[in-house]
Amino acid sequence: MTELTIIGGGLAGSEAAWQAAERGLDVRLFEMRPQVSTGAHETGDLAELVCSNSLGSNLPDRASGLLKNEARRLGSMLLECAEKAALPAGAALAVDRGVFAHLVTERIEKHPRIQIVREEATEIPPTPAIIASGPLTSARLSESLAALNGEGHLYFFDAIAPIVAADSINMEVAFRASRYDTGDQDEGDYINCPFTKEEYENFVAALQSAERIELRSFEEAIRTGVKAGTFFEGCLPVEVIAERGANSLAFGPMRPVGLSDPRTGRRPHAVVQLRQDNLAGDLYNLVGFQTNLKVPEQKRVFRLIPGLENAEIVRYGQMHRNTFIASPKVLRATLQHKTRDDLFFAGQITGVEGYMGNIATGLLAGQNAARVLGGQPPLELPQTTMLGALCHYVTHADLRDFQPMKANFGILPPIESDKRLKGRDRARAHAERALADLENFLTHD
Ligand SMILES: Cc1cc2nc3c(=O)[nH]c(=O)nc-3n(C[C@H](O)[C@H](O)[C@H](O)COP(=O)(O)OP(=O)(O)OC[C@H]3O[C@@H](n4cnc5c(N)ncnc54)[C@H](O)[C@@H]3O)c2cc1C
Repeated sequence: MTELTIIGGGLAGSEAAWQAAERGLDVRLFEMRPQVSTGAHETGDLAELVCSNSLGSNLPDRASGLLKNEARRLGSMLLECAEKAALPAGAALAVDRGVFAHLVTERIEKHPRIQIVREEATEIPPTPAIIASGPLTSARLSESLAALNGEGHLYFFDAIAPIVAADSINMEVAFRASRYDTGDQDEGDYINCPFTKEEYENFVAALQSAERIELRSFEEAIRTGVKAGTFFEGCLPVEVIAERGANSLAFGPMRPVGLSDPRTGRRPHAVVQLRQDNLAGDLYNLVGFQTNLKVPEQKRVFRLIPGLENAEIVRYGQMHRNTFIASPKVLRATLQHKTRDDLFFAGQITGVEGYMGNIATGLLAGQNAARVLGGQPPLELPQTTMLGALCHYVTHADLRDFQPMKANFGILPPIESDKRLKGRDRARAHAERALADLENFLTHD
């Protein structure tokens, strides 16, 4: 019988343990709580939800609903527990968090092939393992991860800038250009939103007074600048830069140097630059606009940017404590480490964001560990499925500004015939294709 070590009894680790044990592996599941606290969890239960009690939409044509349907098809144990612990919440799957965690803990404790070890794991095991220690991975294990992957390939904070749908940018106002128009590949092909002096001043005032998400004690460092990625040493939220002086943004991420607005022939007072975020070119991120504003405030304030009046924000910005590895550099879409076939990563530590994404990557890592240790090739799910697309995104994203990603339809490859499909019809077509492709993939596996 082959033994597998799993570090972290959260959402991903619990699901992974169940999947691997059900497929015949002997699992040692390390969970450091309640002896060692993360600062956010409150109990010693496995699969404790740290904040919201909602696992997102259950509707089949929503990104999170599709991910649930895929996880159901793949046999998720945690989703089954969530459904047993469900509370009335309209179209969302919200749970009684205590009941949910108890159900998961009980299933894991009673499994004859799973042993729970209530200890902090401080090293990456040299034997087959899944690392699922989450966004609040302990300091000593983080050191071991940094040693495995290289110091610069472990991040401790999200610094997520909002992402908008390209077709919602008003190109009558915004214009394409790289700084100095050198055509330099490093600069890429930017979309620029130009500000007059007056527009800039209004925007800065709105930013300074907008409501922010309250910081928790383990996130205080955000106020002074955090290491949030290889190219983001000392990264600050855009509203904190704004409060340091009326011109600090115009000299920082909004500096207009080297740009000329083709409509006026003049250099704008300031610009917001947007950079392509996905291969399909239908998503753009606001460069340097990591933010900690509340979601409705982001919608209100960022729509003051000329050219983004009607922007569809597909991912909101955020900054919080979040340990994650440089997956595009070190991980394969099968969730295996690039240097070791028997070492897997799952959950938030891979850069996949959101409860449901964390559960689903745990499921895939657990099943793949069992396959690899049993001499079978690991599953690499079709990119047209939401789980396949998430795994593909985090392992192929641009490392320069790699940040965690949640399930969303923007990461799925376009459907050949969908040029005319809009909104919900397009989402429905994506969901139907995803489930059909998953079925086909599993049938022929
Ligand atoms: C404060 C906060 C709030 C969040 N709120 C939401 C939300 O509302 N909705 C949402 O969708 N997502 C949210 N997330 C993001 C994410 O979905 C959750 O954090 C989710 O629980 C991550 O799942 P996971 O399995 O990767 O990690 P976790 O569920 O955190 O599990 C990791 C486990 O590993 C254990 N551990 C860590 N280090 C070690 C070690 N060295 N040895 C042994 N055990 C260890 C931890 O105690 C923990 O139990 C939030 C994240 C944070 C930090």
